[in-house]
Amino acid sequence: YFSGPIDFLKSAPTLEHIPEADLPEVAFAGRSNVGKSTLINALTNRKGLARASNTPGRTQELNFFTVGDPPEFRIVDMPGYGFAKAPPEVAKRWRHLINDFLRGRPNLKRVLLLVDARRGFRDIDIELMKMLDEAAVSYEVVLTKSDKLKETQLAATTEAMALQAKGHAAAHPEILATSSQTGLGVDELRKAVIQAIG
Ligand code: GDP
Repeated sequence: YFSGPIDFLKSAPTLEHIPEADLPEVAFAGRSNVGKSTLINALTNRKGLARASNTPGRTQELNFFTVGDPPEFRIVDMPGYGFAKAPPEVAKRWRHLINDFLRGRPNLKRVLLLVDARRGFRDIDIELMKMLDEAAVSYEVVLTKSDKLKETQLAATTEAMALQAKGHAAAHPEILATSSQTGLGVDELRKAVIQAIG
């Protein structure tokens, strides 16, 4: 699956600009600076692929990438959230865009919710989890920057977070620890994406 070409398709500031729902999609979400672009690049072995999403002006948009030739599925890079300095209207726009996207995207097979292993769930992550539960979109929590924790700390964090996620209807029971730096969990994440695509 990931051996074929992966191309930036388009950037969508509103739902009017999103591609037709004619291919399965897996989306990546998380707080700004969680390591989302780096992980998408590690996953796809394409340095700089998700850089497009991090360029000014595109950070608040849904970015679509096509995988395979002919295209087999799409990766959706969702706008990062929880940026401390974001004005309230930006947060409001984010909520609307994400809510509308989640509720109106039957081809969205799974959301990978990225959380910094050192920080655990923040309020805004929990808010997104509730949105996902309500939209009945299946999601899996993925820890990023796991290299920053000792093995025992990582195990304890993963366990505690799995308990927290348990109360959420649409959450996958397992939490996947990754590091783009060491490659930990990247193969597993690739498998999770392929499994979600079905
Ligand atoms: P994004 O805003 O979520 O797309 O975050 P980026 O991918 O741009 O990464 C934010 C920062 O975290 C950058 O300085 C990265 O070098 C760093 N980073 C990303 N992944 C890792 C990782 O696995 N381990 C460590 N230690 N740092 C990482």
